[in-house]
Amino acid sequence: MRALYPGSFDPLTNGHMDLIERASTLFGEVVVAVLSNPSKRPAFSIEQRLSQIHKATKHLSGIEVISFDGLTVHCAETHHADLILRGLRAMSDFEYELQIAHTNRSLADRLETVFLATSAHHSFLSSSVVKEVARFGGPVDHMVPCEVAKDLNRLFNSALSPSQP
Ligand code: ADP
Repeated sequence: MRALYPGSFDPLTNGHMDLIERASTLFGEVVVAVLSNPSKRPAFSIEQRLSQIHKATKHLSGIEVISFDGLTVHCAETHHADLILRGLRAMSDFEYELQIAHTNRSLADRLETVFLATSAHHSFLSSSVVKEVARFGGPVDHMVPCEVAKDLNRLFNSALSPSQP
């Protein structure tokens, strides 16, 4: 099966990676779809986010990385996805995710949304938290893939940890 995993990925975290790895085992093919939404004022350009995901997933097979704008259901149709994948970290995610899943179902009723619960040790992770820590010079090496840690370091021009070159 082919899963579409849409998101902002600004930037990719180990929580996203956990989901991508598990989904690749479960479904075989995963299309990671990076939403290009300039109104969200992303920290990383679409090209940077695509490159981060490409590098971090190169050890996996069956992964495609694309950008999109517009409706997720249109992206899913264009890329022949069988399902939309989303992650749930806590009850606070649930209400919003359920609303989006119902909306997408109303637009394309053959398209199911499948939720994977985050691994407990990644449940605190979000792109915003990672950026906040990096902005103030805290270590993020345990939160994001190494290529993303380097990009965060460059972006905020701060030492991420004593072990970073
Ligand atoms: P969006 O702006 O669409 O929410 P995100 O990049 O923040 O984009 O998240 C994309 C998807 O990844 C969402 O389904 C979100 O719940 C999930 N996700 C984010 N962080 C984690 C995490 N730490 N563990 C598992 N899933 C996560």
